[in-house]
Amino acid sequence: MRTPVTEKINRLKIKRNAVILAHNYQSGEVQDLADFTGDSLELSRKAASTDADVIVFCGVKFMAETAAILSPGKTVLLPDRHAGCPLSDMITAKQLIDLKCEHPDAIVVCYVNSSAAVKAESDYCCTSANAVEIVKSIPADKEIIFVPDQHLGRFVVEKTGREMILWPGYCVTHAAITEDDVKQAKAAHPGAIVMAHPECGEPVKAICDQILSTGQMLKFARQSEAKSFIVATELGIIHSLKKQNPGKEFFAATERATCPNMKRITVEKVLWSLEDMQYKITVSDEIRTRAKQALDRMVAVLPAK
Ligand code: SF4
Repeated sequence: MRTPVTEKINRLKIKRNAVILAHNYQSGEVQDLADFTGDSLELSRKAASTDADVIVFCGVKFMAETAAILSPGKTVLLPDRHAGCPLSDMITAKQLIDLKCEHPDAIVVCYVNSSAAVKAESDYCCTSANAVEIVKSIPADKEIIFVPDQHLGRFVVEKTGREMILWPGYCVTHAAITEDDVKQAKAAHPGAIVMAHPECGEPVKAICDQILSTGQMLKFARQSEAKSFIVATELGIIHSLKKQNPGKEFFAATERATCPNMKRITVEKVLWSLEDMQYKITVSDEIRTRAKQALDRMVAVLPAK
């Protein structure tokens, strides 16, 4: 819907040669004004392939950093400077260096939900969609350190049979989704398919039907014959699920699954961001080069699209 604010945003977008990216967990209004919606890596790669001079990243800081790593010639703006990610903040580069000293031969795999400095200390980056493939590609005799999300890590251990050293980080928003929530949602919506994100705790994943990244949830819902779904991840994705599947129903496992950091971004803040060209997210060349290697190694493992 066009409003005076969105019209101003569109004018400024042209003036600044900007592209607006919105993560799947953003509010519906923010997703609707974006040029692209998706998961963090998908968005950063899309932005890198455009000829925009400015990227407005409607997400959290590590996502804007990933965009800056992949687009060194572009200005990357985060509309709220306090939009951080508690999961990514659960490990620092110093803590990872100390862990590497204890396991000098280990290969480090970091989930994309990590700071640029942590990525720079890692051998491979991964997403929730490709973590299993990345770990499978590492020679069986190698020790693996997996940071920072323990729940995604346990999912990978289960799928690959590989023991890994797991950092005890977790997403506070996914931790808010309980086994009881899912049981109650199933009782309220019999027959609905339960889709859970790998960042959910193990009791939730044990009683769901599908464990999927956000991108995989969107694809699964489009292709499935089923008509109703229970969604165990951040609520923002329900906006895209409903929009893409008008004949299907989507129910939140719990209304508590909302990420306060993601929801810091509002339509007005996107406007102010373009007006004042703030808040610029930069990554030093030294960190950027090493962090990009971890991202490049991930891409090299994946089949060409
Ligand atoms: S949903 Fe979780 S992992 Fe994603 S930004 Fe919020 S706290 Fe971080």
